[in-house]
Amino acid sequence: MDEQLQRTTTRRKFIGATIAGAAASTAIAGAAASTAIAQQAAQQNAPVRSPNHNLPNEQQVGPANPALDAENPSSVWTLDTDNGTVPPFKYSFSLAHKRIESGGWTRQVTQRELAVSKTMAGVEMRLIAGGVRELHWHVGSEWAFMIYGNARITAVDAEGRSCVNDVGPGDLWLFPEGIPHSIQGLGPDGAKFLLVFNQGDFDEFSTFLLTEWLTHTPKEVLAKNFAVPESTFAEVPKKELFIFATDAPRPLAEEQKAASAGTGEINEKFVFRASSMKPTKERAGGEVRIVDRKNFPVTGIAAAIVRLKPGGLRELHWHPLADEWQYYVSGKGRMTIFEAGSKARTFDFTAGDVGYVQQSRPHYVENTGTEDFVFLEVFPNDTYQDISAAEWLAHTPARLVNQHLRTGEDFLTKIPKQEEVITPL
Ligand code: MN
Ligand code: MN
Repeated sequence: MDEQLQRTTTRRKFIGATIAGAAASTAIAGAAASTAIAQQAAQQNAPVRSPNHNLPNEQQVGPANPALDAENPSSVWTLDTDNGTVPPFKYSFSLAHKRIESGGWTRQVTQRELAVSKTMAGVEMRLIAGGVRELHWHVGSEWAFMIYGNARITAVDAEGRSCVNDVGPGDLWLFPEGIPHSIQGLGPDGAKFLLVFNQGDFDEFSTFLLTEWLTHTPKEVLAKNFAVPESTFAEVPKKELFIFATDAPRPLAEEQKAASAGTGEINEKFVFRASSMKPTKERAGGEVRIVDRKNFPVTGIAAAIVRLKPGGLRELHWHPLADEWQYYVSGKGRMTIFEAGSKARTFDFTAGDVGYVQQSRPHYVENTGTEDFVFLEVFPNDTYQDISAAEWLAHTPARLVNQHLRTGEDFLTKIPKQEEVITPL
């Protein structure tokens, strides 16, 4: 900051605080405050802001939604570093249509709900104990994170090898594109999980379903195909099952043995036990676990599981290879995205929110709450990659950076030479 700007900012803060104090203590008339604000704005060509947002030029009047406002302070009381029009990059699963079936429920946040999310979509699903997400497949790949409870997954690959496996909290699975699969809630209380797809317009309500496919195939063709009488298919449901309640599965070993007869098993190939993974980076401010093709060879979808402690910051960075789809698991915080053309926008996030960062847009994520802030970063390609501001500047001649930022070269020599991911260190 040059001296001129620093003086201006200091004076603006001082005057703003003085006016705010006066407004609070003496209930100064709106007109008088407006005059003072107008005078100051004319002097400095900048709006006056108060810590309590009680100046006439920033007050909320008329209809308001206090509950929503309280969750979104960065929107209601915009940071003065935010600027211009940036397409919204937040949507909450709480606003998504929830389809409730006998075996559980599901809802989705896709490009239809969040227009900017062109390359990825997400689904939340709850299955009761015994509840089955019908055997199906889709064009895109499915990356999944178990949030609560346990489920049994099944899949068969192109060589006919079977995966029958149980997945618990904090673990992942990946079903590659076109691979048929199912999910079933286990005891005692079923499961809740997140699914992420490398396709923005994905629709969980419109996948290739076993029942629907067979219903729309002539029975004589089914009989010929499987070499059985047509009557075998008399009871195939005329309508999709989608998510249905049924009996619990048989013991795991028994189902694995039967399903793998003749072709073999791939039980762990599609599963990644992230719950027992050591952090990729561990810092005073939090930790991150990166799961991509390097440690989970089957995946075409890379991910980072991030935990920020109170005050922790996921440092300034961007992703050169792909868009980032985020799911917020717990806690609260904020993210600012900078957009080319001097634009920036900050949103607040809490459990159940989806965030989205387009390719190469720089951003940070900060824990603004009093509990750990946990979120997932998911990418529609197989390799996790980011560029950090600190690492970039640390490896550019200090003379050149100083000529841009006027920070002094000393500041640059103090930046760690290796990317930290999370600060404080
Ligand atoms: Mn699926
Ligand atoms: Mn990121």
